[in-house]
Amino acid sequence: MADQDATRDIDALIVGAGFAGIYMLYRMRELGMTAHVVEAGSDVGGTWYWNRYPGARCDIESLAYQYSFADEIQREWNWSERYAAQPELLRYAQFVTDRFGLRSDMQFNTRVTSAHYQDDTGRWDVQTDQGDRFSARYCIMATGCLSVPRMPSYPGLEDFEGDWYHTGEWPHEGVDFTGLRVAVVGTGSSGIQSIPLIAEQAALLTVFQRTPNFAIPAHNRELTQDERDRNKDAFQRLRREAEYFIPARSGGPSAAPRALEVDDGARDERYQAFWDMGGLMYMGAFGDILVDQAANDTAAEFVRRKIFSIVQDPETAALLAAQDFPLGTKRLCVDTGYYDTFNRPTVSLVNIREHPIETITPAGLRTAAEEYEFDAIVFATGFDAMTGALLAMDIRGREGVSLRDEWRDGPRSYLGLQVAGFPNLFTITGPGSPSVLSNMLISIEQHVDFISDCLEYLRERDLGTVEATPEAQGRWVEHCRDLGERTLYPQAKSWYMGANIEGKPRVFMPYVAGVGIYRKKCDAIATAGYEGFALSR
Ligand code: FAD
Ligand code: NAP
Repeated sequence: MADQDATRDIDALIVGAGFAGIYMLYRMRELGMTAHVVEAGSDVGGTWYWNRYPGARCDIESLAYQYSFADEIQREWNWSERYAAQPELLRYAQFVTDRFGLRSDMQFNTRVTSAHYQDDTGRWDVQTDQGDRFSARYCIMATGCLSVPRMPSYPGLEDFEGDWYHTGEWPHEGVDFTGLRVAVVGTGSSGIQSIPLIAEQAALLTVFQRTPNFAIPAHNRELTQDERDRNKDAFQRLRREAEYFIPARSGGPSAAPRALEVDDGARDERYQAFWDMGGLMYMGAFGDILVDQAANDTAAEFVRRKIFSIVQDPETAALLAAQDFPLGTKRLCVDTGYYDTFNRPTVSLVNIREHPIETITPAGLRTAAEEYEFDAIVFATGFDAMTGALLAMDIRGREGVSLRDEWRDGPRSYLGLQVAGFPNLFTITGPGSPSVLSNMLISIEQHVDFISDCLEYLRERDLGTVEATPEAQGRWVEHCRDLGERTLYPQAKSWYMGANIEGKPRVFMPYVAGVGIYRKKCDAIATAGYEGFALSR
């Protein structure tokens, strides 16, 4: 516990020590500002600290899912696989932190509970669950888009006699499912990654599926030394290209044709080629998959045919292929052996859309149709995404206005970076920015650079406050909504829409035009003296 009366004065308080918080601290130090990171976990890593479930790995290739801000990092670090697994990603976060000696300004096992703007001093009063109190000119939220695990509200869980887990809060010592009867609830990316590995250990595995997702094989493999070396030389150039990438759906100069522009044979050939490349690249097979329902149907049908060709039991295959949303409008899953797993005699699939889970019982769970007994239940039920971590804190801006009230009808921000009425508060990869629709390392670096450059700009001009104007924010919110509505995304009941949380406003939260267009807009805004932001002493 901290001394209750001691308030620590700093330039910037950074909340969160995932990839965003780590790099933000690095940049603050470079600027010569005093900064302190507060992190709820006992170490750095964020996503890769918490999500230790079997099979957890990135779905953006490791060679791209890394920092570019200091070239020596990628020169010194050697990725072992095409898609690195969680332990390696966590080691990477630790490596970068230690490489730059950042730990001395980090505080772990501490949760920020409130951040209140003081109208009289123009500073943020930040408090933690350990009794710390900080007075900071800048308050920077690096709290993550997928950092608040969400549990279903079934009754009876407290009486369950077995063990239960959430994929997003996995025990550090790991879990041995050998010989156990296991249930997995949820078939998003976390479920689809963990199910094949849990099935290898469990005596019996029952998967409870409400909505089937689309999964594309990762074709994960070891990287060769030659691949690593070539990437090291090309990395900075490739990253600069990726930073300005404009997807075909936003009018980018993509070579991808439209899906219905080619005949059936050519279309299938192209889908097969992208299936063989694996992973999220499948979305790039045609330029209009996310904007044209008919195009999307062809992409979905190809995957459904694959499901029927892999899964031997036709009823199970039909259940796995019963998606009711356009492909890609819930994040595409990247799997290793997911569909094959259902050919194991020990694995079964239960349709809880038809017969919902009613209660957890001491021995297992009961659906509307049947009672099941389990030794362990795994909840792969996702997160309160994008706004969850921000709204978990009591954040108050000018005149005590609370962020929870401001965002009652959904998040409103300027560029996903600032909220009008909350001066000097920044949200890294906040709602209204490309964030979760991008390689997050690209988006994180861009936001951290934008914030750091902005703070330097203020300092050079002897200014102390930056704040999004309500007008600029209003225009940005409209723009984001307008772009979202031109795509198929709003058709899915996804976490992008807040639809996975009961009572959460249905708003499409990410900026959909891609990192290239977004970055150009941010660059232009900065060059124009931070247009849309009010700067003052
Ligand atoms: P996080 O890594 O979420 O870190 C935020 C940190 O803030 C957490 O450690 C949390 O404990 C802390 N925090 C939150 N609130 C508080 C508080 N009030 N007080 C103190 N600390 C707090 N993205 C990709 O681009 N590619 C991928 O392959 C990919 N795979 C993913 C796999 C999984 C299983 C998940 C869940 C997400 C994945 N993502 C992926 C998204 C991933 O979240 C980002 O890539 C990235 O790791 C986010 O970094 P961050 O620092 O912004 O947030
Ligand atoms: P998710 O995509 O939200 O999936 C949650 C699953 O749980 C869905 O199948 C959902 O069904 C189900 N579910 C939720 N509440 C339920 C309830 N009450 N009863 C029954 N089923 C319920 O969550 P996630 O899988 O953790 O993934 C979240 C995001 O994290 C991903 O989209 C991705 O961005 C990231 N991630 C990435 C990777 C990777 O491959 N690198 C791995 C994991 C996570 P409904 O669809 O019907 O709601």
